[in-house]
Amino acid sequence: MNPVKIKVEDQKFLYILWDDNSETRIDLPTLRDACPCAECQTGKNPQNENLPFKPLTLGKKAEIADIKVVGNYALNIFWKDGHHTGIYEYGYLKSLGM
Ligand SMILES: [Zn+2]
Repeated sequence: MNPVKIKVEDQKFLYILWDDNSETRIDLPTLRDACPCAECQTGKNPQNENLPFKPLTLGKKAEIADIKVVGNYALNIFWKDGHHTGIYEYGYLKSLGM
C-alpha cells in the first residue's frame, strides 16, 4: 500500500489516495493529536521535563508546512509551528481516517 496522491485541503484535511484506490481523509487537529513521535507520546516538555509538554495546537491552528515520504512506509509531517518529528506509518494514517 502506497500513496498515489497526497494533498492538504484548505489546511483542514490531509487527503491521501492509495494505490488500491481507497481514500483517507484526516482532519488536521486529529492528525496532530495523534502524532506518534516520542515527545508527544511521552508528554515530556523537551525544554523542561517537569513541565507538561503541550504538543497540541491549543488556541492555534494545526497547519501543515510540508510532507516528506519516509522510505516506502511512512510520511514525515512538518507542521507550521516547527514540529516535525512525527513519522506516520501508512497503516496508522489509514486507521486515523474518517
Ligand atoms: Zn510529535
